[in-house]
Amino acid sequence: MSSYEELRKEFERKVKKLQEQCNHEKLSNWIPYQSASGHYTGREVKSCKRCNLIVNERTKCSLCKSYVEKKDWIKGDGDKVSFGTYFCSEACLIEYIKLPLPEGVKSKD
Ligand SMILES: [Zn+2]
Ligand SMILES: [Zn+2]
Repeated sequence: MSSYEELRKEFERKVKKLQEQCNHEKLSNWIPYQSASGHYTGREVKSCKRCNLIVNERTKCSLCKSYVEKKDWIKGDGDKVSFGTYFCSEACLIEYIKLPLPEGVKSKD
């Protein structure tokens, strides 16, 4: 193993320990979250200022556009609603399914 890898492993281990022991008292504001590939995901995250752990996530409901936090959101399952959609409630999900498909998009059936 190279020195670089050893250092990286040690760093990861220390960060993990810090995150486990931290009380996450000081949190950042909501900041846009970018995926590893650099794509804007439409999500926002709140992280701990001390240990850098992501403590909360939110995104906008695909129907009503209000913010919904990770613990509450309902994800599109790729069946009735496409992947990458998020809803604040069952009601919004149902409304969304009822919406007519955009021009040019044909349903599978
Ligand atoms: Zn923390
Ligand atoms: Zn909604």
